[in-house]
Amino acid sequence: MIPAAFDYLRPSTLDEALAALAGREDAKILAGGHSLIPAMKLRLAQPRSVIDISRLADLNYIREKNGTISLGAMLTHYEIESSAFLKDRCPLLPEVAAQIGDVQVRNRGTLGGSLVHADPAADWPAPILALDAELEIAGPQGRRVVKASDFFVEMMQSAVQPNEILVEIRVPTTAKSVAYVKFAQKASGFAIAGVAAVVDKPGQSVRVGITGVAAKAYRATAVEAALQGAPLTREAMAAAAEKAADDVETLNDIHASAEFRAHLALVHTRRALETAAGR
Ligand SMILES: Cc1cc2nc3c(=O)[nH]c(=O)nc-3n(C[C@H](O)[C@H](O)[C@H](O)COP(=O)(O)OP(=O)(O)OC[C@H]3O[C@@H](n4cnc5c(N)ncnc54)[C@H](O)[C@@H]3O)c2cc1C
Repeated sequence: MIPAAFDYLRPSTLDEALAALAGREDAKILAGGHSLIPAMKLRLAQPRSVIDISRLADLNYIREKNGTISLGAMLTHYEIESSAFLKDRCPLLPEVAAQIGDVQVRNRGTLGGSLVHADPAADWPAPILALDAELEIAGPQGRRVVKASDFFVEMMQSAVQPNEILVEIRVPTTAKSVAYVKFAQKASGFAIAGVAAVVDKPGQSVRVGITGVAAKAYRATAVEAALQGAPLTREAMAAAAEKAADDVETLNDIHASAEFRAHLALVHTRRALETAAGR
């Protein structure tokens, strides 16, 4: 439970943080610390340097312009959960945040830290995919933007490189017809199956993001295609939800077998669609 020795740096600006990363091998960014610190204590991670960005005020904001909401990567789960602005303009995000871990985890853990960590059981990937978010990453060559569908590379690996920092997540404003439904691990709250649905009623298009079920979170494109332009009846949504685990290799671990996870994906997709369409 005692981490290996490491250097500790606490830059005051994003540029200082990037410079610190650029000059060091085996350096790790520290955000909320709720994934990195346990991994270090178990010596699963042994960075030589830890660069603490928890006090970078320039990565903590919620802004809106022309229907796009920009979220700083250092927003904590609690700041998102308690944002009256987000409850009104992008209610899926506070709904997800409220279901993460416990109060202590939500007070320290950050949106950016969770996304970069890319834990297959994390909640944030589901809404980020369903909202078709864009993610802005800063590095030595400047900034680049990655679409949510390209962000999750494989288990515990996102598109953010070791010398880069995730700085901003951009999502559209939405109506209230959204939902996040999950089957959680009892001890931690992590998702065994978590489904985010965004129903665009005027266009009758649907986007579905699923986490917990496979090695990386995914868009349930077969479900979306089945409902494209169709009336959102209970029967149509139930039939579409049957495709929630199509072409996906479901995880098999101590929490749930591959078959059970596939079943959970179908059931929770149906529930998420029904809940979103009913709002
Ligand atoms: C008891 C417990 C219960 C939990 N339950 C849940 C749950 O129900 N659902 C859920 O989704 N999560 C859960 N978590 C995880 C929690 O949400 C973490 O806070 C989150 O996964 C990581 O965010 P962090 O800010 O703590 O990141 P850190 O632990 O500080 O960092 C995680 C990783 O991301 C990197 N990193 C962090 N920020 C950036 C950045 N901006 N740019 C580049 N790299 C960065 C770090 O270098 C590190 O590799 C739980 C954790 C605990 C301890």
